[in-house]
Amino acid sequence: MVELSIVVPAFNEAENIPLLYTELTDVLKGIGHSYEIVFVDDGSVDGSRDVLNELACKDPRVRALIFRTNFGQSAAMDAGFKEARGDIVITLDADLQNNPEDIPKILSKLSEGFDVVSGWRRDRRDPFLSKRVPSRLSNWLHSRLTGLDIHDSGCTLKGYSHDAIESLELYGEMHRFIPAILHSRGYRVAEVEVNHRPRQLGVTKYGLYRLINGFLDLLYITFWSTFSSRPLHLFGRLGFSLTIVGFLAGTLKLIHQMYVFFVLAEVVFIGPIQFISILLMTIGVLFICFGFLFEIQIRIFYRMTSVRNYSIRERIGPC
Ligand code: UDP
Ligand code: MG
Repeated sequence: MVELSIVVPAFNEAENIPLLYTELTDVLKGIGHSYEIVFVDDGSVDGSRDVLNELACKDPRVRALIFRTNFGQSAAMDAGFKEARGDIVITLDADLQNNPEDIPKILSKLSEGFDVVSGWRRDRRDPFLSKRVPSRLSNWLHSRLTGLDIHDSGCTLKGYSHDAIESLELYGEMHRFIPAILHSRGYRVAEVEVNHRPRQLGVTKYGLYRLINGFLDLLYITFWSTFSSRPLHLFGRLGFSLTIVGFLAGTLKLIHQMYVFFVLAEVVFIGPIQFISILLMTIGVLFICFGFLFEIQIRIFYRMTSVRNYSIRERIGPC
């Protein structure tokens, strides 16, 4: 076991990796904990593999996992987490935008008893329109939907207790939502302000599609963290609401038509309100049926996988 694992996802960052290695080792030697650095090469085609091979041969504390092709940052971080042996795991970008000198700050916050410490790039050094504006928006939405009030969930510079990362399985682009996922399972999350530097070498790996993907992922995370063990409640609530609205609208319209027909003795026609009311009731019943189907699927899911919908902080006893 080592005390500290550093996990670095890297996709075509050959020029940055040696510089980051030097910065990291300077800081880590100063801290004085035993450490390892795990690079995950996410299918680079710029010679990163040879750069990493050289570093790993030179320094036994460096290891690298080389992906066959580009599987994405979440997959790279997932592989790095599974490889990491440290009691504490720190992640940071390979492109030097995160500053290794912030690592002691993260460690000191973790030592206060937090399971996750997330970096906040308060003075973010990225283009205004393509990065900072969308990031502000998505973080605002993130706080509202997940109930976790942090400013910058997308910053890779974060620290975790080993226990926290053990419960994670990352898919798609979920790495931006790790604090929210862990928060929903009762892990204690804090944030600290960190430095951010402009990218000097290489190019960003994300375009504007990140915004749409991020929004969809956020909806999914919110759904999953609240209803993953009881989807029937979500679909059932929606279904009942629609059915009731449809039923009330239809009934009121019917009373009105009976009045027109019997009291005023005028002709009545079937109008849009009846159609809408039948539509709402049908959709409502379908939603409730979806709820049952998802409920059955989720039960099979929990049976077939080792994923748990709860998380145990500690075991006590026998004394
Ligand atoms: N990255 C990765 N796989 C990918 C995309 C990115 O491992 O498919 C790495 C990338 O090399 C960098 C980090 O994830 O170390 C963050 O990516 P980037 O700097 O391009 O994001 P930005 O800072 O522009 O948001
Ligand atoms: Mg970057």
